[in-house]
Amino acid sequence: MQIPYEKISIDNITTNYTIAHGVTLHMVRFDKIHNIVSGNKLFKLYHYLNTAAENKVTTIVTFGGAFSNHLVATAFACKQQQLKSIGIVRGEKPKNISHTLQQCIAFGMELQFISRNAYKNYENNEIAFAQIKNTYDPCLVIPEGGYGVEGCKGAGLMYNFMINHNPTHICCAVGTATTFAGLVKNNKHNNVELIAVPVIKNMMDLDDRIRYLTQQNHGTYTVFNDAHFGGYAKHPPSLIAFMNKFYEDTNIETDIVYTSKMMYAVIEKIKAGYFKKGSKIFCVHTGGLQGNNSLPSNMLNF
Ligand SMILES: *Cc1c(COP(=O)(O)O)cnc(C)c1O
Repeated sequence: MQIPYEKISIDNITTNYTIAHGVTLHMVRFDKIHNIVSGNKLFKLYHYLNTAAENKVTTIVTFGGAFSNHLVATAFACKQQQLKSIGIVRGEKPKNISHTLQQCIAFGMELQFISRNAYKNYENNEIAFAQIKNTYDPCLVIPEGGYGVEGCKGAGLMYNFMINHNPTHICCAVGTATTFAGLVKNNKHNNVELIAVPVIKNMMDLDDRIRYLTQQNHGTYTVFNDAHFGGYAKHPPSLIAFMNKFYEDTNIETDIVYTSKMMYAVIEKIKAGYFKKGSKIFCVHTGGLQGNNSLPSNMLNF
């Protein structure tokens, strides 16, 4: 699987608050890899798909909700690799299929809708997992969100790309924590301060997740906990207003679930003087912009 590194830019954001606090702020545009497929999701898939290729497996099965960036990324990557993809979708088939799922279908993914209860079993149940394997074998089953050791290893490639540019801080939105764990895993000398911004309210198990994903006792990292805006995918008017203002100031689009909340947290901390003078702050633009299609069309000014 090829990752088009040449499309990624590191954009400088200069505003009155960066100047006032003597820091530089940069957005690493992994979103530019593709306008529908989230940047981090391709990285997380990287080793899974290589494993599939090595084992001559031609069918990939994975899981997600109706707005899942992971599903659409898997559909896309599989099409590119000429693999068959099957998406197991949480919830009964709705009358109107979401933009995300329509895109999955356009990339050739076969969707299978299952009840929320059955889905829960699949997620946490090895027998259900084995059942899927039997149904589609030979296949590779990728956990929801790419959450797993191989996903973490793939996300480490993002760290390797960024570290060449000497950041003092790297900030990243956290869902399953797979992407962030990849950064932690590769930050071996703790020479960069890694900052996690959970988009889930009261995320209690971040340490456990990182330990499982990295398979090691992790290094240190920082968590900015107060930018979830009410919880996963919640987007009150204050968040929409922030996204519009940020776009006006920088020309950079953010998504309602992840990158807007991460940027909000980082900017608030800059304003509060958290970052020392001279800090070179990298914010990971993980993409996810296709998710904004679920909003009424006049809410965002981009
Ligand atoms: C999935 C996703 C994340 C979160 O990644 P995890 O590895 O699940 O923590 C962040 N940003 C965007 C845009 C995503 O789609």
